[in-house]
Amino acid sequence: MSVEEALDYIKSHPEGALQSNLWKILKIDSRKCSRIVAKLLKENLITREAESIDGIRTYRLYYVESAHDRRFSPLLAEEFFEPCAGCIEECTPEHCAKLSEWIFSIVMGPAGEMAIEKVYHQEKYSEI
Ligand code: SF4
Repeated sequence: MSVEEALDYIKSHPEGALQSNLWKILKIDSRKCSRIVAKLLKENLITREAESIDGIRTYRLYYVESAHDRRFSPLLAEEFFEPCAGCIEECTPEHCAKLSEWIFSIVMGPAGEMAIEKVYHQEKYSEI
């Protein structure tokens, strides 16, 4: 059981992961889990709030989005970075394939890829 696995589990629970469940799910003892949680807290990768479940005190653990992630998240759609940032090409935005692709990925998510191919296919055959 590694620190990374614990962090992945906490990340996958945006509503917060209970420490009393973490050690059971990851098949480690509660002491080792406490050490891992302490390490993640020290590295500011998680925060915690005290909680009582059926009279048992535990902590709800939350992943802390890094400053780096937060800074660039408005420029990301799915895994695509906003194409105009740093672009030095001369352009007409309404005809820019890179910008269209990025907008499709924002509006349609993964389904945007199919829509992009359809647009490219139409453009290709309209030029012939
Ligand atoms: S619209 Fe296209 S060409 Fe223009 S800055 Fe954005 S990515 Fe570059």
